[in-house]
Parts: sequence; structure tokens; C-alpha cells
Amino acid sequence: MLMNPIRLPFLCTLILGLSVAQGQTLQHLDSTAVRWAETITAEDLSNHLYILAADSMEGRETGKTGQRKAADYIAAQFQAMGLEPVNGSHFQEVPLKVSQLKGGLLDIAGNKMMFKDDFVPYPGIEVADVAAEAVFVGYGIQEGDWNDYAGLDVNGKVVVYMTGEPGSEEKGFVLSGTDEKSRWSRDPSVKRQLADSLGAKGVLIVSDEFATLRSRLVPWLSRERMRLDVDRKGEGTDLPTLLVSEDVLLRVTGWKSMKDVRKKWPKGKLKGTDLGKLELNLARIDDKVKAANVWGLLPGSDSTLSDEIVVLTSHYDHVGVDKEGLIYNGADDDGSGTVSLLENAQAWTAAAAAGNGPRRSVLFMAFVGEEKGLLGSEWYSDHPAFPLEKHVCDLNMDMVGRVDEAHADNDRYIYLIGSDKLSSELHDISEAVNAEHVGIDLDYTFNAPDDPNRFYYRSDHYNFAKHGIPVIFYFSGVHEDYHGPGDTPDKILYPKMSEIGRLVFLTSWEVANRDTKLVVDRVNDFPSDR
Ligand SMILES: [Zn+2]
Repeated sequence: MLMNPIRLPFLCTLILGLSVAQGQTLQHLDSTAVRWAETITAEDLSNHLYILAADSMEGRETGKTGQRKAADYIAAQFQAMGLEPVNGSHFQEVPLKVSQLKGGLLDIAGNKMMFKDDFVPYPGIEVADVAAEAVFVGYGIQEGDWNDYAGLDVNGKVVVYMTGEPGSEEKGFVLSGTDEKSRWSRDPSVKRQLADSLGAKGVLIVSDEFATLRSRLVPWLSRERMRLDVDRKGEGTDLPTLLVSEDVLLRVTGWKSMKDVRKKWPKGKLKGTDLGKLELNLARIDDKVKAANVWGLLPGSDSTLSDEIVVLTSHYDHVGVDKEGLIYNGADDDGSGTVSLLENAQAWTAAAAAGNGPRRSVLFMAFVGEEKGLLGSEWYSDHPAFPLEKHVCDLNMDMVGRVDEAHADNDRYIYLIGSDKLSSELHDISEAVNAEHVGIDLDYTFNAPDDPNRFYYRSDHYNFAKHGIPVIFYFSGVHEDYHGPGDTPDKILYPKMSEIGRLVFLTSWEVANRDTKLVVDRVNDFPSDR
């Protein structure tokens, strides 16, 4: 499970409503399925986990020796069970790089600004190298009668604009005519996109919340960050953008105060909006890293359905070793999901060997790079082994072995997240499987669209969901050892985990064997904003 990422106050989440799902019966769950489900045992889970979460795996940090050891172990298990390699291998190489911002330069008309004190890069902006004229464009808004760009040619220039919009809550905003802010205030990408479309080479956002933003961003700026080693150009606007303090604008222009600027700008009384020559540079150092997802395929037995893929996933990486040398074993995160994946693979391959194989194909995948930002699953969904539209669903297990505070009195529960967001049929199957064959509590607390933890976005299933592939995220909640050195295999509840493993197995059994592919009937209902 990924740490909750930094979120700026202006990045808003969408709210969606839930409607009631329709009833659905199980078509293919019989005593045969249950018999194979019962081969998922607490003992086998424990045997695997004491190996995967051993100190010798060194916390399985992506790019490190321990992670590669874990990958080899999982691949060897897949091979021994008889899962087929995919594209000739049990490994899907994931090209990664570790990059670090080494500093920044901003010079406006000979005024050298201080990196971090006066300016910080806009979130997501990695590199920038711009030399151009800078021009002040007020609020940077163009809508209806309001046009901050009127009479200004910003093509090939760096535009400098203030956050917010004309008007105030008390007196009403000009654009809306009410006390409601417009999208120009609410969504920071709107102004940037406009600047981009007008041919600007860069953007300086004069932020009235610079001090707050700065204090939140600075701790992250110089940190090493791992990412996919791919060219991100062309995705959204990658226009070089900085956040600067109001003081920067006042220093360069000699203007009296921002209050004065906001008063004079709408009346066209602000003189000297050409700010002079601007140079901006962000320098970054990259190191390439090699790592791999581990995968194995159980081909479907029905030639008319076997091109459809049911996916079971976990992530096998964790956060490694800290500066003091303490090993973060990641038994729950996500050793628990990974051994549950192994046991699901074991149950499925044994069933197949006995002639009870799935009609559709089942793909088992242990992802790398999850703790670095869901990187392995992002790579997979960008480079899928099968066409994305053939992926029936992803059942993702991440932290399924412990108990959280809310369930201290009953450990037989699991949080389900996402099950109803894309396919009401998947949700209904999941409910029916549990009601008829497992009988644990299915807790939907974290499935709420306004869940402040945002768990829906914080594990690998999200990279399937964002492509419209139905998902269920199985999760037993956070605990005091979350991302700590105390997440060890002796604290795992193996019988509980075996029940969750069986729930996943039986759900995959039903989905893999149904006559028709899961319907995706709620594709417009889920928020794509992460
Ligand atoms: Zn985690």
C-alpha cells in the first residue's frame, strides 16, 4: 500500500453517488470449486510468508537485491506450479529511474531569485530550461467578457499570472456573479492549459498561498524519486511552470502591493507588464534502475473464451531498510497479498491439472515498484500482455493479514474497495460468493467516494480501474506497524488470510467460468482524477 501522497489544497476530488446494485446468482460455484478453495490453507500461507518476509529479503525495496531475491522466489513458485511464462518469461521488465532535483535557477531581468525561498517547481514539473521574455497577464483568465490576454502577444513568452480570480466572496466574483468561485480558481490546470494553447513557453504562478505551498513542497523537492523511465512528453500540459511568491512579482516590477495590483489590473491602469528577460532552469540527475513484475498464466480451457483474462494481483516490493539498518519486512504489506496470490495460483493450477481448469485464462501477477508510486502496475497497464479490453477484472490483494482498530473484536472481515465502481455484476458476485461460501464481514467503509484515505487510488488495482477494467481491492486496514519495522510474519493472522484467499479464489472461479464476460455498466461513475 502506497503512502498517502502529498495533495495540494487546490487539487480537489470528485464526489460520486452510489446506486443500488441488482441481484445476481452464481452460475458456476459448486462443490468442486469449494474443494479447490480449501487447498488454500493457513499453513501454506505461513510457509511462504516466513520466506518472503524474512530478513534475508532485506525489505524487498524496488531496485535492491532483496527485491530481486523475492522475484526469483515467486517466479520459481509459478514455474513449479506449471503456470506458463508470458512473452517467454516469468518476468516483465519494468524500466525505472531514480531522479533527484539538484537545484533551480530563476532570473528575471537580472534579479536572481532563490530556489525554495522565492520559487518552487509546480507539482509534476521535473525539468525546465527556458529563456524568454516574461509578461504579466493578471489572472491569466479568458472567459466571456473577461480577457486578461487582450492586446497581449504571449507566443514564445513566459506568462506570469496571479492565482484566484477577480472579485471576492463578500462582494461576489465577477465571472460567476455570485459568491461561487469559477473553475479558474478551483482547477489550476485550466489557466496553464490556456497559456499553453496561446503559445506560452513557460508559466510563473504568483501564489497568494506560496508560504503554505512552499512548506508542503520543499521537503519533497530534493528527495530521490523513483519513476518509470519513459518520456512523459505530450501527456497533459508539460509547460515549464513555477510557483513564485507575491514578493517576487513586486520586487521585479516595483509595484506597491498585491492589493494594489488586484485593484488596478482590471481597470487597465497597471503599467509595465513586460517584465523583461527571464531565465529558468531546473536541473535533475537520473539513475537507471532495473526491476520486474513477476507473472504466470493459466490458459483458459474454453477456446471461445480463453482470450479473456481474469487478473489476480499483489505487489511483492516493500520499503527496504532504513538508515539505522532496521529491516522493514513488509509481512502484511504486501507479503500477505503475495502469498495469497501464490496460494490462489496453487489452487487454480491444481484444479486445472485435475481437469477443473478455468474457461477464461487467469493471469497471476506480483507487481514491483508499488511503494514507489504503483509503478509496476502502471507499466503493465501501459504495456499489457493482452489487449486491455480482454481483461475481465483485477482482483488485487494488498495488506490482507492483520486486524485494524475498528475490528479489534472480530478479525473475520475484509474491506472491499472498488467492487461496485465499474461493474455492478462483479459486486454482486463478490457479495454472493461471500454470503454462500465464506461468511466473513465485507466492510465498505473505505469504498465511500469521499474516503479521506483515498485507498481506491493507493494500490495497483487503480491502474486497471483507470482503464475501465473492473476491480476489487481486498484490504484488511492499517495498523501500528504499517510501513514500520514491526510488520513481521509472526503478527499475521493466517486463518483469517486463508478465508480471504478463498474468497478471492471463488470470486475468480465464478468470473472465469461464467458464460458471459462481466458487464462494465458503471464506467461513467468513477472519478479518474488521482
Ligand atoms: Zn505499503
